[in-house]
Amino acid sequence: MKPTSNKYLLDPQYAQALDAEDRLARFRQEFVIDDPGLIYLDGNSLGRLPRRSRVLIQDYVDRQWGQRLIRGWGEGWLELAQHIGDKIAGLVGAQPGEVVVAESTSTNLFKLAVAALKARPGRSKIVTDDLNFPSDLYIFQGIVELLGGGHRLEIVSSPDGIHGPLEGLAAAIDDDTALVSLSHTAFKSAYTYDMAAVTALAHRAGALTLWDLSHSAGAVPVDLNGANADLAVGCSYKYLNGGPGAPAFLYVRRDLQASLRNPISGWYSQAAPFDFGLEYQPAAGLRRMLTGTPPVLALAAIEPGIDLLLAAGMDHLRAKSVQQSEYLIALVDAVLQPLGFQLNSPRDAARRGSHISIGHPEGWRINRALIEQQQVLPDFRAPDNIRLGITPLYTTFDEIRQAVQRLRAVVEERRYEQYSLERSAVT
Ligand SMILES: *Cc1c(COP(=O)(O)O)cnc(C)c1O
Repeated sequence: MKPTSNKYLLDPQYAQALDAEDRLARFRQEFVIDDPGLIYLDGNSLGRLPRRSRVLIQDYVDRQWGQRLIRGWGEGWLELAQHIGDKIAGLVGAQPGEVVVAESTSTNLFKLAVAALKARPGRSKIVTDDLNFPSDLYIFQGIVELLGGGHRLEIVSSPDGIHGPLEGLAAAIDDDTALVSLSHTAFKSAYTYDMAAVTALAHRAGALTLWDLSHSAGAVPVDLNGANADLAVGCSYKYLNGGPGAPAFLYVRRDLQASLRNPISGWYSQAAPFDFGLEYQPAAGLRRMLTGTPPVLALAAIEPGIDLLLAAGMDHLRAKSVQQSEYLIALVDAVLQPLGFQLNSPRDAARRGSHISIGHPEGWRINRALIEQQQVLPDFRAPDNIRLGITPLYTTFDEIRQAVQRLRAVVEERRYEQYSLERSAVT
C-alpha cells in the first residue's frame, strides 16, 4: 500500500469539498438522474438524457409531427442537420457551414474516405493505427475491396497498446499515401493525438487527413481549423448526449468542399432536390455530403446536449475533466495498483481524453460485479480493460471516490468470483 499520506484521497470530505468548489456542478441538474444511487461512468459510450431533450421530443411528436404534418419540413426540419452542425462546429474549432449531421459515424467515414481517395488519384495507401476503432478499419477494408484492389490499408502498431505510434506513422506516411485516418482520442486507452502535428506530417507528404472525433467531441478541446485538418467525423451519442443511435456528424474544411464528390449521392446532396431532375448535380457547400432524408426525431434530440456543452464552455469542461482524471489516477495508484490493477491510459494529461482505462487479469468479472452488485456502471473492453468514463457535465468527484472504494471492495473481498467467465454481447 502507498503511505498513509494518501489517505485523504478516499476521505468523503475531501471529494465533497472538491464538488462544493466545482463551478460546473449545476449542470448535473440539467440531466435526468433517475437513480441517484447509480454511479454512471459510461458517458463516453452513451451520454445521459438531458431534461430538455425529453420535453423537446415530446413537442416534436405531439405538435410538430402530430399537428403540423408535412408542413414541418418548411418550419425547420429541412435545415435541422445544418443548424445543429453549425452548433457542433463551435465545439470542434470549425466554422458554420463546415459541419453537418448525417447518418452514422461509420457511414460518414465511408463517404469522406472514398471522396478523399478519389481526390488523390495515383496514390494507393490509407494509413491508420491499431488503436483505431475497429469499425473504422472495417470500413477501410471494405473501401479497398470496393475500389478494385488498387488501394491498401497500412495499420501502424502502437508501441505499447496505449500511446499512438508517432514514429511508425512518420515512417509509414509517404508520397504514396492518399489518406491518414486516425481516432483523435483512442477508444480504449484514451490516448489523444496532437492533431496539428500529425496533420502537418500528412500534408508534407501530400496526403489528406480524416479524424474520427467520436471520443473527443465534447470531451477535449478540438481545433480542426487551427490544425488545418481536412476531414473529420464523429459520434453524437457519447459526450454530446444525443441519445442512443443519434445521427453522427461530418466535417469538411471549407476550401475542400467544392472538390470532393460524395460516393452516396442521394437527392439530399443534389443541387436542386425539389426539381426532381434526372441528372445528378452536387449541391454547393457541405450539403453535397448528405444523402437522404434525415431521421428528424433522432436529429432533434441532439441539440439540447450540445447547448449544455456550449453553455459550460469546452475550456471549463476540459479543466474539470483533467482535474477529475488526475484524481482518479491518484486513486488508482494509491488504492488499486496494490490489488493488481494497472493504468492503461497515458499519464500525461495533455495526451489523454476524458476516460481512464484500468487493466486487471480479472477485469471482466470485476466489471460484472460492479454492475450487478455495486451500482457502478463502467464498461469493459477486451482483453482486460475496465473503462471509467468521466463526463464533467455530470460526473462528481464523490462518485469517482465511491467507484474506487467499491472496486477495492470487489477485489479485496473476491466478490467477482461468483460471476461466470463467459462474456455477454453488449459490454
Ligand atoms: C463510437 C465510435 C464509432 C461509432 O460508430 P457508429 O457508426 O455510430 O456505430 C465510430 N468510431 C469511433 C472512434 C467511435 O468511438
